[in-house]
Amino acid sequence: MPDDGARGGGTEGWEGAGGRLAGLGVSQGRAAGPMIRLGEPPKLPAPGPVTDPGAEAATVGKALEAVAAELNRRALAAGGEAAEILEALAMIAEDPILLEEAERHTAGGHAAPHALDAAFTKHREALAALGGYLAERAADLDDLKHRAVASALGLPMPGLPSPGHPYVLVATDLSPADTAGLGPDVLALVTERGGPTSHTAILARGRGLPAVVACAGVMALDDGTMIGVDGGTGEVAIGLSERETSEVVQGETARRARLQASRGPGRTADGHAVKLLLNIGSAADAEEADAEGVGLFRTEFLFLDRRQPPSFEEQVSAYAEVFARAKHVVVRTLDAGTDKPLPFLGLPEEQNPALGVRGLRVDRLLPGVLDTQLDAIAAAARQAGAEPWVMAPMVTTAGEAGDFARRARARGIARVGVMVEVPAAALGAGRLLREVDFLSIGTNDLAQYTFAADRQHSVLADLLDPRQPALLELIARCGEAGRRAGKPVGVCGEAAGDPLLAPLLVGLGVTSLSMAGVCVPAVREALAEVTLDECRERARAALE
Ligand code: PEP
Ligand code: MG
Repeated sequence: MPDDGARGGGTEGWEGAGGRLAGLGVSQGRAAGPMIRLGEPPKLPAPGPVTDPGAEAATVGKALEAVAAELNRRALAAGGEAAEILEALAMIAEDPILLEEAERHTAGGHAAPHALDAAFTKHREALAALGGYLAERAADLDDLKHRAVASALGLPMPGLPSPGHPYVLVATDLSPADTAGLGPDVLALVTERGGPTSHTAILARGRGLPAVVACAGVMALDDGTMIGVDGGTGEVAIGLSERETSEVVQGETARRARLQASRGPGRTADGHAVKLLLNIGSAADAEEADAEGVGLFRTEFLFLDRRQPPSFEEQVSAYAEVFARAKHVVVRTLDAGTDKPLPFLGLPEEQNPALGVRGLRVDRLLPGVLDTQLDAIAAAARQAGAEPWVMAPMVTTAGEAGDFARRARARGIARVGVMVEVPAAALGAGRLLREVDFLSIGTNDLAQYTFAADRQHSVLADLLDPRQPALLELIARCGEAGRRAGKPVGVCGEAAGDPLLAPLLVGLGVTSLSMAGVCVPAVREALAEVTLDECRERARAALE
């Protein structure tokens, strides 16, 4: 239900005559425009008696025509490779064999939606049986089926809308496939589910799209409603006037221009230095923004789909390429397991993988993998004349940290650290820092393990909000341990790229923030607006 505006705290510049909804802002920026809901796959009604098979057959024909027409229209708008894919799908919808099969079912007494469902299912099975590339395309038929059935039922077609004008995309949740296909006409994203570390959030931040998740009630609004979205505060204003809409657009254009021009190292208003670093998965990401280096090089991203282990030489060349592009690089050793399976490791299936053999723990089963990687990092560093920092994921005890540090240092790697991703590591931060040179807090996993809430689980999104005092206390503990030891403590989880959180993290004693390139300018700006004392004050208030 829209509320009366009290909960959102009054976002400047809009009244929203239809009230407001409150969600979690996960990607900065404001946008305003007509909303369109992402169509859900239709549910087949219970089969009933059919009185006019001819009419059902006509509905089948019209539904398939509508699907093909919609895909061809989108192909025209998309152009290039995407157009070819969409045209090929349209041709499947126009396939006479499919039509004949569905008509056979209507003649047999089935209603149009059921006849389409049966015909597509048969087509899909035939494709799957052919194997290879064609079998992979079988999943596309499900999308076509959903579209055809929705059309026969008189419902909006599922899948990304393409209304031909800019719009705010509203959905229950977005799959990675939906988000990957977003076109330039999407102004902002609002989802009813999802959390701060969900795909929607990460992708939206990567593209600089304002986004609000966990926004209860948004799917109950009508398509075409003018809404305003504030990806910082999480507020969604309903029924914006034309004047309000154009104010939002102007304000956002000015904000983006200002951010684009922003340069230089991270500093608070009184000159306290906070390193602004990048999270990268490959060498190409290293040049994404004006940053002070790479704070998290996720090496597993290089080898995600591999069936064969990457050779020593291959690793050396991949790492050396990154070292050549960035002046300061923190390399994280392979973080395999749970949501990032690495098939080439051949790890056994687990009943409870998030609590199982992942990250550094893989070394318990396959010790050679870490040793080869450390050798490759050291060799790449010598080749590129670099002095990388190296850290391990999913470290729990000082014993693990010490063992990792000894093995890295034995290879000439001078700066060795560990990630803090489980509460035990945060609670033992002082002990860890007796073994290593720095800590890097992975707030995505630290939230997951602190609140016992799967980081991908949309229903538990509120538990994963990094503003939770319990999480902030653990970060504060790391910051304090770093201060005592005189060693750096960074944050490299998604929280580091949130400009509202950045000053708070600095107030907790964090010395560097590592994030997606697109987040750097807004974080730089947020820090420049506050003094270190103000950061500490915010931290104190948040902990209370
Ligand atoms: C984290 O857990 O916060 C982190 C940075 O690691 P990843 O997201 O790669 O698990
Ligand atoms: Mg992690």
